[in-house]
Amino acid sequence: MKPILYIVIPCYNEEKVLPITAPMFLEKLNHLIMQNKISDDSRIMFVNDGSKDKTWDYICSLSKENNKFKGLCLSRNRGHQNALLAGLMTAKEQCDITISIDCDGQDDINAMDKMVDEYIEGSDIVYGVRSSRKTDSWFKRTSAQGFYKFLSYMGAEVVYNHADYRLISSRALKALAEFKEVNIYLRGMIPLVGFKSTCVYYERNERIAGESHYPLSKMLTLAFDGITSLSVKPIRLITNTGIIVAILSIIGIIWAVFEAITGNTVAGWASTTSIVCFIGGVQLISIGVIGEYIGKIYMETKARPRYIISAYTDDINK
Ligand code: UDP
Ligand code: MG
Repeated sequence: MKPILYIVIPCYNEEKVLPITAPMFLEKLNHLIMQNKISDDSRIMFVNDGSKDKTWDYICSLSKENNKFKGLCLSRNRGHQNALLAGLMTAKEQCDITISIDCDGQDDINAMDKMVDEYIEGSDIVYGVRSSRKTDSWFKRTSAQGFYKFLSYMGAEVVYNHADYRLISSRALKALAEFKEVNIYLRGMIPLVGFKSTCVYYERNERIAGESHYPLSKMLTLAFDGITSLSVKPIRLITNTGIIVAILSIIGIIWAVFEAITGNTVAGWASTTSIVCFIGGVQLISIGVIGEYIGKIYMETKARPRYIISAYTDDINK
């Protein structure tokens, strides 16, 4: 049986770019159908993320003209990650595989062929990875690369140079649906789902029309959200700093006592210094320990699945 593919595309104020890219997506979908790689029931699903322009009207008219187009409209702007999740969660009930892609034509749609091939060969998740960032501005390139390095240092596992262009099977999406957290950062969560995954490399182009919705301020917010929703490493950094400060305090106290004994000080200096050092060390360690508990509570509140089963011989041998 040929798999049913849903291409899921979040759109926010994209009236300028959709008329250019929608036919490109359709052509690609038809091409994949013609090649017998995917089922004729495959669809393109646009998710309107509370656009303030004519984006939704355009999506509606597309779906009237051609049943290959579908549209999902959010009640208000919820941001790229939530819009994408809404699309994927709706699509997973109707298809076997999804490919998520931005609607601005920056990601090379020709990589979809290889993604579907990789799925047929057994991968549940196929990450689209940029082979170069030549077309990005120097600033965007350096800041994005610094962002990935910083994220992995902070304990958030992400695929280097991968944005949200990827293929996911519906069974992996069903596992993702078990992640109940509200602050989502899909790039970091999908590796946690597991299953067999691979990468497909492509060149990233410039936006065809319209403007980027990710200025520096939004990128910084995304970085901060990514770290704080995936990792408790920042809390551990506080504990570690606390331990270092405590060790320095002990050295400080020994030094203060030594200076007092050798008579190099005015009265009261050594005791004051010792107390300041001692309290400083104790406080930071205590904050760190409390933080560890908050971190545990935080992870518990996410109610993530403890395991995900990928196969069971009882089902296979049916
Ligand atoms: N997007 C969205 N909601 C938002 C912001 C963006 O659905 O609040 C969509 C947007 O329409 C596009 C994708 O997310 O399809 C990526 O946005 P953009 O191209 O502006 O980001 P960049 O490629 O510059 O990082
Ligand atoms: Mg873009």
